[in-house]
Amino acid sequence: MVSRIIPVDPFDIVIFGGTGDLARRKILPALFKRFCDGQMPGESRIIGAARTEFDVQGYRAFVREAVIENCSGRLCETDNLAAFLERLHYVTLDARGEKGWDDLTTLMQTTCIRAFYFSVGPSLFGDLAERLHRHNLTDEDSRIVVEKPFGRDLETAARLNRVLASHFNEGQIYRIDHYLGKETVQNLMAVRFGNMLFEPLWNSQYVDHIQITVAEEVGVAGRGAYYEKSGAMRDMVQNHLMQLLCLIAMEPPAKFEPDAVRDEKLKVIRALEPVDPHHIVRGQYAIGDDVPSYREDVDNSRSKTESFIALRCHVTNWRWAGTPFYLRTGKRLKARDSQITVVFKDAPHSIFGPEAGRHHNELTIQLQPDEGITLCVTIKEPGPGGMRLVDVPLDMSFAEALGPDADAPDAYERLIMDVIRGNQTLFMRNDEVEAAWAWTDPIIKGWEARSDVPKPYDAFSTGPDDAKLLIRRDRREWRGIGA
Ligand code: NAP
Repeated sequence: MVSRIIPVDPFDIVIFGGTGDLARRKILPALFKRFCDGQMPGESRIIGAARTEFDVQGYRAFVREAVIENCSGRLCETDNLAAFLERLHYVTLDARGEKGWDDLTTLMQTTCIRAFYFSVGPSLFGDLAERLHRHNLTDEDSRIVVEKPFGRDLETAARLNRVLASHFNEGQIYRIDHYLGKETVQNLMAVRFGNMLFEPLWNSQYVDHIQITVAEEVGVAGRGAYYEKSGAMRDMVQNHLMQLLCLIAMEPPAKFEPDAVRDEKLKVIRALEPVDPHHIVRGQYAIGDDVPSYREDVDNSRSKTESFIALRCHVTNWRWAGTPFYLRTGKRLKARDSQITVVFKDAPHSIFGPEAGRHHNELTIQLQPDEGITLCVTIKEPGPGGMRLVDVPLDMSFAEALGPDADAPDAYERLIMDVIRGNQTLFMRNDEVEAAWAWTDPIIKGWEARSDVPKPYDAFSTGPDDAKLLIRRDRREWRGIGA
């Protein structure tokens, strides 16, 4: 398959937190891959900025290591890496002090797009915005990219929105949710709105229910201090799972344009019914073979933070009235597996009689570990044994369908290039983020008021038994994790 690379204008991208984990594992490797594909025109440069003292050669050596660790050997063996490193610069800078800001001002080019990636803890977002403004480093065409978490509740998110809005227009602020940059997530929109096949059936009349699962095999070790204050609801549900739910549930936008798409997503969030506490299960992983428990990982023997959550919710609008959405996410589960399953209703009447069994269609959108879409259809089981029916998958795994070169680009590659292109479609708008917090806040406050303790579950299982009951009560079953 011939990949079509859309040219972008020259840019300077400053990575605040250019020495951090995210920059090392995701942002810098993503920029390297875009460079290899010719998407860093002539004068474009990357400027790392953090407090660590590096000269430019030292930073290039740091980035070289990061790229080799996180990109395929094939790419790194070429002359590309040396040429890429030439584009790198570094400023020793303190987001909270005056150090380094004049150096950054001197280094920036005046004739190209300026993007500032805030890959630092959220407590520094306001300082960075204010200093960028004070040092005249931005113009009306400059953009900032803001990482998650965006606040920890409605109040803090609204405050952060106000701080950023005092220095930037909404059109300059790119709140990143890397799930939206995944190829399959965008394909979800292509499948829904590019085909006639699904959209007429995409409603409560034909869809029995929808499941969204984001399961991780890893625990929280290494991020324990952050996670302990956050938990699965804030870390995953409020952003990633809700964004997926929006894309599944939203009405077709008039155009695939930023505000048209985000208006429709916002309507979904606003149509979410408050969740009955009986329809939520919180869990916390217990000790497993050779792995510590959650409480050991965060070094808090009385922790009440959830590392797992399952819930049932409803989008109360004409399209989805009566269709439950089951959301589930957790750490230390059986496998790394993220998927959305749209389960269609059984045929209203079986002409094949009771022995043929009950059958229905399922559309599964697989996001991790591999990306692909599978439609399960019912056919006759081959052979002379009468009319027995069986469900078989029509598999649209991208690698097979689009050929061996259809390597799905990392979400960060796509999203960073969208920032440079000035396309906010896959980024969250201020009102979306606040609406999502407005829905999750009462749930979290309810747990806090009741001193709710999460249910323990075995490491590498599918979560607490209560999560199975949550869906079985409705005579349904979760789809397997890592199946
Ligand atoms: P990290 O490894 O702790 O890196 C933080 C970065 O900020 C470092 O480069 C640090 O460099 C810099 N920094 C800290 N204080 C500074 C200051 N006063 N002035 C200038 N630079 C300062 O964190 P991370 O994991 O990369 O995460 C960065 C952001 O991305 C966070 O908001 C996080 O929540 C978000 N995020 C991370 C991931 C991930 O997988 N890591 C995923 C999603 C979102 P110096 O110490 O050299 O100053």
